Amino acid sequence: MPHVVTQSCCSDGSCVYACPVNCIHPTPDEPGFATAEMLYIDPDACVDCGACVSACPVGAISPDTKLQPEQLPFVELNAAFYPKREGKLPPTSKLAPVLQAPMVHRRPDGPLRVAVVGSGPAAMYAADELLTQRGVEVSVFEKLPTPYGLVRAGVAPDHPSTKRVTRLFDRIAQSPGFTFYLNVEVGRHLTHAELLEHHNAVLYAVGAPTDRRLDIDGIGLPGTLTATEVVAWYNGHPEFADLTVDLTDERVVIVGNGNVALDVARILTADPDVLARTDIADHALAALRDSRVQEVVIAARRGPEASAFTLPELIGLTATCEVVLDREDRDRVLAALPEVSDPLTRNKLEILSKLGDASAPITRPRIRLAYQLTPHRVLGEQKAAGVRFAVTGTDRTHDIAAGLVLTSIGYRGIPIPGLPFDETAAVVPNAGGRVLDPDSGKPVAGSYVAGWIKRGPTGFIGTNKSCAAETVRNLVDDYNDGRLTAPAHKPSALDRMVRSRQPDVIDHRGWAAIDAAEVARGGDHRPRAKLTSVVNLLEAAAAAPEVPMHRRLLAGLRG
Ligand code: NAP
Repeated sequence: MPHVVTQSCCSDGSCVYACPVNCIHPTPDEPGFATAEMLYIDPDACVDCGACVSACPVGAISPDTKLQPEQLPFVELNAAFYPKREGKLPPTSKLAPVLQAPMVHRRPDGPLRVAVVGSGPAAMYAADELLTQRGVEVSVFEKLPTPYGLVRAGVAPDHPSTKRVTRLFDRIAQSPGFTFYLNVEVGRHLTHAELLEHHNAVLYAVGAPTDRRLDIDGIGLPGTLTATEVVAWYNGHPEFADLTVDLTDERVVIVGNGNVALDVARILTADPDVLARTDIADHALAALRDSRVQEVVIAARRGPEASAFTLPELIGLTATCEVVLDREDRDRVLAALPEVSDPLTRNKLEILSKLGDASAPITRPRIRLAYQLTPHRVLGEQKAAGVRFAVTGTDRTHDIAAGLVLTSIGYRGIPIPGLPFDETAAVVPNAGGRVLDPDSGKPVAGSYVAGWIKRGPTGFIGTNKSCAAETVRNLVDDYNDGRLTAPAHKPSALDRMVRSRQPDVIDHRGWAAIDAAEVARGGDHRPRAKLTSVVNLLEAAAAAPEVPMHRRLLAGLRG
């Protein structure tokens, strides 16, 4: 009864270190780790101990006897990662080499104090890595009233197990030395220089908060949006709650075929009664109940062998949605199959070759995958009416009518005030997370990055764990070697400054009160019903119990 890694794998590698026989690969020290679509359990070496099940933060691992029918393809997918051999491997006591947490050398001028900007996965993994050492203090600044970045505002509502990683983040936020400053925007309420005065270092894990824009005529017409705006809308991000998402036409076109496009297409075609059991924003659920959308076309500019979505997501999509192909695209899939040697791509093409035919009558909302379509212009005068594509590699054009056109061509980082920025890669120039001055090539004192603003918008939630760990190792080395300036003020001075600039700052008690209010609003059938306006979030945070007087006095004495 070997265990199996399934679709919601976050790739953070916790299972690797829990496994007593090192049968989960690639491990974070192996070359394929950074680009792996998921991790895989070797069925011949697995000793069925289940240690990986408890270690996995997103509930992605099950014994092969307990899989849901739609998870069965993952049995073969895990096995296919390992070379075929005769017989079962004997158990081994070889453990994956554990990456050592960095050892902070105590200094007489006080403990290591780090400001982390952002509270998504890279920020939380960085805080966790720092707080493995006693005495370290981490202040986490987040501009929204709620933490956890794209885990809250990006992961699709119908992927609840992926969101389970927030339980790990909640535990990290309760560690000694951790302080939340939610609803505080660095660059508006506080400057980079001020953060540096109060900390030894500032680590930015702000992600890639905007999208790559498609530069074709008609983008910007009513009825054109980016897929990531729609993601933020259905996930209840306060800045997108009022977005107009026009679902009055029968067809939506999405340009680009990465995992974000798949997420959006799935939500737009899902049964609203199924979504009603998720944490989807109430306004989005109401709009989806009134939706007339019958088909979402996901249009890629290259062929099926170059599909940007990952295999686990394709398996999940085809298990739950009706997905079809045009005849021409099926011919492309069949023509590509014999040419492909990479097993993952081959597996994708085999799944695509078995999809239904788009000429069949539409019986329920469906998704059509389309290939070789380079977007040329958005059709329509006053509002979007479709997209004219060039058939890639030919002189032909192909029009697809649609009332809503979404571009899903990737996220993009934005400059951070006070730090250099590489406009081409849309990242902060860095070496292993140390921010670099592009002119001198030297590190910018006390400044670090982790996550998408460090390496660009690729990878999964757990990819940020090793990314953040690398940054933290370099930060701690700099601290130990005396390259970081000690804070000029006591910790209580930071608290006073933040509260004077942003009286509505929310701390961990405020977040706990918001969390409890949302869970209560969700009732028996939903994990939570999100509050989607800052006013309502502040109201819920205000219900947090007061800190008892003796704690406040103690904190004052320490600070
Ligand atoms: P992505 O995977 O980078 O896909 C971008 C898509 O846009 C590709 O199909 C790309 O085509 C296309 N594209 C780029 N420029 C274009 C242009 N000018 N015209 C037409 N098409 C263009 O981006 P994403 O979907 O935003 O995902 C970002 C990251 O988040 C990925 O690492 C993804 O795996 C991850 N993610 C994971 C999950 C999950 O695991 N469930 C969910 C969401 C996101 P080409 O390939 O031809 O360039």
